[in-house]
Amino acid sequence: MPSTEIQPDVRVRGAREHNLRNVDLTMPRDALVVFTGVSGSGKSSLAFGTLYAESQRRYLESVAPYARRLIDQAGVPDVDSITGMPPAVALQQQRGGRSARSSVGSITTVSSLVRMLFSRAGHYPDDQPMLLAEEFSTNTVEGACPECHGIGRVYEVPEEKMVPDPTLTIRERAIASWPKAWHGHQLRDVLVALGYDVDVAWQDLPREHRDWILYTEETPHLPVHSRLTLAEAREAIAAGAEPTYSGTFVGARKYVLDTFANTKSAAMKRRVSEFLTVAPCPICRGKKLRPEALSVTIAGLDIAEFSALPLHELMQILSDAVVESRTSMDAGDHAPSSPGRQSAAEDHSSVDDHPSAEKLAAFVRLGEGLIDRLKPISDLGLGYLSLDRTTPTLSGGELQRLRLATQLTSDLFGVVYVLDEPSAGLHPQDVDALMGILDGLKARGNSLFVVEHSVDIMRHADWLVDIGPGAGERGGHVLYSGPAAGLAEVDESVTRGYVFGNRGLEPHEPRQPHGWMRLENIRRNNLHDVSLDLPLGALTAVTGVSGSGKSSLVSQALPAIVGDRLGTSTSTDDPAPEGDDLLLVDDTEELRGTVTGDLTGFRRVVSIDQNPIGRTPRSNVATYTGLFDHVRRRFAETPEAKERGYKPGRFSFNVSGGRCPTCEGEGSVMVELLFLPSVYTECPDCHGTRFQSSTLEILWRGRNIAEILGMSVEEAHDFFTGEFDIIRSLTALIDVGLGYLRLGQPATELSGGEAQRVKLASELQRSGRGDTLYVLDEPTSGLHCADADRLVAHLQSLVDAGNTVVMVELDMRVVAVADHVIELGPGAGDAGGRLVAAGAPADVAAAGAGPSAKYLTAALS
Ligand code: ADP
Ligand code: ADP
Ligand code: ZN
Ligand code: ZN
Repeated sequence: MPSTEIQPDVRVRGAREHNLRNVDLTMPRDALVVFTGVSGSGKSSLAFGTLYAESQRRYLESVAPYARRLIDQAGVPDVDSITGMPPAVALQQQRGGRSARSSVGSITTVSSLVRMLFSRAGHYPDDQPMLLAEEFSTNTVEGACPECHGIGRVYEVPEEKMVPDPTLTIRERAIASWPKAWHGHQLRDVLVALGYDVDVAWQDLPREHRDWILYTEETPHLPVHSRLTLAEAREAIAAGAEPTYSGTFVGARKYVLDTFANTKSAAMKRRVSEFLTVAPCPICRGKKLRPEALSVTIAGLDIAEFSALPLHELMQILSDAVVESRTSMDAGDHAPSSPGRQSAAEDHSSVDDHPSAEKLAAFVRLGEGLIDRLKPISDLGLGYLSLDRTTPTLSGGELQRLRLATQLTSDLFGVVYVLDEPSAGLHPQDVDALMGILDGLKARGNSLFVVEHSVDIMRHADWLVDIGPGAGERGGHVLYSGPAAGLAEVDESVTRGYVFGNRGLEPHEPRQPHGWMRLENIRRNNLHDVSLDLPLGALTAVTGVSGSGKSSLVSQALPAIVGDRLGTSTSTDDPAPEGDDLLLVDDTEELRGTVTGDLTGFRRVVSIDQNPIGRTPRSNVATYTGLFDHVRRRFAETPEAKERGYKPGRFSFNVSGGRCPTCEGEGSVMVELLFLPSVYTECPDCHGTRFQSSTLEILWRGRNIAEILGMSVEEAHDFFTGEFDIIRSLTALIDVGLGYLRLGQPATELSGGEAQRVKLASELQRSGRGDTLYVLDEPTSGLHCADADRLVAHLQSLVDAGNTVVMVELDMRVVAVADHVIELGPGAGDAGGRLVAAGAPADVAAAGAGPSAKYLTAALS
């Protein structure tokens, strides 16, 4: 935007991205604009797909004009014009995987400040020179513990694991950790060529032979004769026979470690991991840093201990220490205290006898800077996190709020923040704090475009844009764009009833449970010996502020403990960790507890979580629910397909045969942009259809297989009339409010909430057997109130069929219609983890024991 062109408003003309119906609208700048509407109505298509995408495109064009052609390929939003749009920063809920190498400290960039603090203002033991900030990082050669290279654990490959049965010979596969098939034969052939006997029992080989075979770091390469004994090989060499091929030897231990570190195949990695043992690093004791770095302390804590503290505790320690340092600076006595409070337990302590005035000043400056950075994180209700928490253990909402907090301390102004449901995962009490933060951003001269479902935030908005009235084809119109109060006049709006009226769930008498189960002495994260009762054949809502321990109880402890008792493992669709992450995943987290009570009615525990339904674009709604199998069979049964000999596999994009060979059925190919992130673009051969043209010649009811994958669930429901097995899955998807999804929509494009509802639909399509414990974590997050109501109605029907449902829930409208409420808390982290209240909704509200009571009372009135 040229700066001369001052425009108070953002104007959009002719927006047609996805389902948007040639939308025109105007929104104010420097204001909180909230986009509302049912799921699939087009909110994201407008806020992210159009406004943010266009701002991004202009930015890219201005920095890299040569990239224009590629940007065009990557897709330009379908809109006639946008004027007055400031540069945009988007914070979207994370979809897909995250790296275990990043942590709260690294994504907020607070860690670099902490390293600076330790470097410049830490307490060093006598005679130790000052270290550079990098020397406190586990990701640098200078900082990482030399023994474990910054992993905190050491891997060993013990002989007993590599050679489980020493009575076998090498030819009989004594070395179990060797690769199978040709590579194993090659290793054996090379050993023979090197003069080792592979036909005596392992235990009878000389010790030095065994050690060399297992532990050598050499990799000799030499000509060999295939499949001979040592004696035969010697004869062959003497007779001058031609060697069969050249082979390379790799020590057994080296093979396991190299494969584990380098293989791209998750299956290989898992196989070799069987031969590894893991132990905390003996040098750094799991702290990942060099001893020199760990000897530097602040307030008696080394940097690893410092990073493991909950942020609110860290802030307290820092502000106490800053006050103390100021006092000693003012008093001019730069002794006797170190910068920082000594913990009471360590009064003998290693007090820095004479912190210099410069060091005290550096501590005050850096310490205050750090407190400023931590405050917004804590204000957003995340003070219970520690800097060392890895990102895979955070919820999408937590991650987004961390990013938001990071933005808050950057000094940007004049930008528009485009946010995706920042209230997700927040208790109403925390939503109040969030609104304060959004106001602060606005006061600094920024604009906020927020896609939201929280009625409180809608009421707080300066401007509402309501999109609808329905989802997909039935949405895409702007029903209202103006100050919040004006929405009251818009009859068509589904949102209106929730903002102004008391529309929604009908209260009901709590059910009489068929019995109770008792969870005893649960330990997990911040839960310490929590015991509570859960009703069977009823709907239980577990609530409490963020970080109080709801997920620890409901998603982690409950399914594991009940699953153990039933002797079944829980069915979750957690994708197994892959690649690097396998190395870093820590499943040593303690879990303890028991369950008693009459569980004879249970056969299964099903956890319906927000993890992706697949990690690649190859899985989609149609494949996950199984309906695509039926569809492919229909195609294979057509006379044309029979004549050509096409089997159902021909219509799959996951195996070769009928799919497009260029993109191997992905429909898109990657384009590398110089200096910019790579983008996916439509496959030039199949134009995104994923199939070969010959496959597409087969029609069923006049449509080809790619056209079917392009249909929304609702269109498919009309199209497949009479096909019972297919209709059953489609009906279940519509019932959970996913009628707008395309059948072929890749798993990677689904939000956590959508993935969760796909799983729920797959459960609903099974006949109600009434023998299941369903466990759900925030099932209504990401849903419009109207969609949430529909979802809750389905959960109620599962309970009516005799099942038990336990869910984490923060929306008090929904908590109010549960049969039983459990509140954990009262606070987050160590200030939580206890049972605060339990009982029917009205009882919990009346008791007033925890922070939820007041909001629940409002919802019940
Ligand atoms: P909301 O944000 O209101 O939930 P969306 O903007 O995500 O709605 O979706 C609006 C419509 O656009 C839906 O019918 C959805 O299926 C469709 N849609 C969303 N993403 C894509 C995409 N990448 N390609 C095609 N259609 C899409
Ligand atoms: P809620 O679901 O109520 O928001 P959680 O159960 O996620 O709360 O978290 C409760 C406490 O346990 C918090 O202090 C949180 O930081 C901690 N916690 C949760 N998951 C992990 C984990 N994987 N590792 C370590 N601490 C965790
Ligand atoms: Zn170490
Ligand atoms: Zn293709």
